[in-house]
Amino acid sequence: MTTTATQETTKTKGKLALYWAASCGGCEIAVLAINEKILDVAAAFDIVFWPVAVDAKVRDVEKMPDKSIDVCLFNGGIRTSEQEYMAQLLRKKSKVLVAFGSCAHEGCIPGLANLSSREEVFEAAYAQGDSTENPDGVRPQHETPMPEGPLYLPVFYDTLKTLDQTVPVDYYLPGCPPEAENIWAAITAILEGKLPPAGSVIGPNTTVCDECPRKRTEKKIKKFLRTYQVKPDEKTCLLELGLVCCGIATRAGCGALCPKVNSPCIGCHGPNDGVHDYGARLMSALASVIDSQDPEEIDQIIREGIPDPVGTFYRFSLAGSQLRRRKKQVAGNGVKRG
Ligand code: SF4
Repeated sequence: MTTTATQETTKTKGKLALYWAASCGGCEIAVLAINEKILDVAAAFDIVFWPVAVDAKVRDVEKMPDKSIDVCLFNGGIRTSEQEYMAQLLRKKSKVLVAFGSCAHEGCIPGLANLSSREEVFEAAYAQGDSTENPDGVRPQHETPMPEGPLYLPVFYDTLKTLDQTVPVDYYLPGCPPEAENIWAAITAILEGKLPPAGSVIGPNTTVCDECPRKRTEKKIKKFLRTYQVKPDEKTCLLELGLVCCGIATRAGCGALCPKVNSPCIGCHGPNDGVHDYGARLMSALASVIDSQDPEEIDQIIREGIPDPVGTFYRFSLAGSQLRRRKKQVAGNGVKRG
């Protein structure tokens, strides 16, 4: 290829950024699960920022013209001032910002820490752990004076926010993590300019039940069971066996991966279009299959079978839900959410 042709190819390539905020890192691994198609991504895009894989600095992004990044895949929720700054910076520099994976989309498991205060999180992490040795009770400080000048750590916020509670988001790619084929489908849609309307979740607007091969009849539940209490056969709907399977309230797109291997859907793809609160939707769906009209019996079925309501109904979505977090005590009179 001549130099001119090379320059022309480079000129027509898009610019792609990837970022990892408050998440486990599984979304970064999921990108690599597209296998050799990563070469197609590299052929179509210059990866201008990807801290886990590419040596580019924040100051490099700060110098980029606004909207010069074509697509940014942003995974993770917003827990610290640094993540908040990066969300704002990448929003400013990107034409298309994708909330990539459940943490950016709904808060996911890191969002369950919204049941605790920052002090309680620090207490668990820096004092109570079985392997923690911290006799002086050291805690991370935002500012530490040093002879050479103060050192700073990002501020750790009390509440984890989703990406769209921080900056406007163009698209959502659900999943914990997103499945490789869905990542590739989204990248292809971006490359071909065939994206759905802005603000959409990229994925089918049906439920996991619609993709699930298990046999369904009439659901009548007298007792919810934990997974260790039943060995499911390979054909019957898990909910009909008494397991809390969230497939009835969860967006499709995974191919019913968990129910296919005898494990109930736990809801990582979040809700369908038009549902404002995943947990409320799931509660309503489960309520409709309880086989009782007696309030006391219903109460007992739920209490005994669902000992962890938040972890069941809001495992992936607490931060993005209408609840958002546990109420906070404030000085003076009362409580506030924040
Ligand atoms: Fe739906 Fe779960 Fe039953 Fe499959 S096993 S049909 S996903 S409720």
